[in-house]
Amino acid sequence: MESVNIIINQSNCTGCRVCQLICSFLYHNEFNPSKANIQIIEEYELTPIIKFMTQCNHCGQCARNCLYDALKLEVDDTK
Ligand code: SF4
Ligand code: SF4
Repeated sequence: MESVNIIINQSNCTGCRVCQLICSFLYHNEFNPSKANIQIIEEYELTPIIKFMTQCNHCGQCARNCLYDALKLEVDDTK
């Protein structure tokens, strides 16, 4: 599977958890944020913290589906 670099722009994160739903569905066949390879840690009134787990294989599907550009795929300008 393709492996991509993901750029995190934490201040854009709304805590919507679409990234977690995509990942848990892809790899565990269920919509369960706690099973995702990306964790969104929210503390009261603070910007959510985005954390990738060691199980993440950098497939990039979470970033492709982040509507708020909190996760973006790194573009390789050398190609
Ligand atoms: S990283 Fe993107 S998809 Fe994930 S919770 Fe934040 S805004 Fe939503
Ligand atoms: S890059 Fe792939 S494996 Fe890693 S958190 Fe995102 S969807 Fe899950």
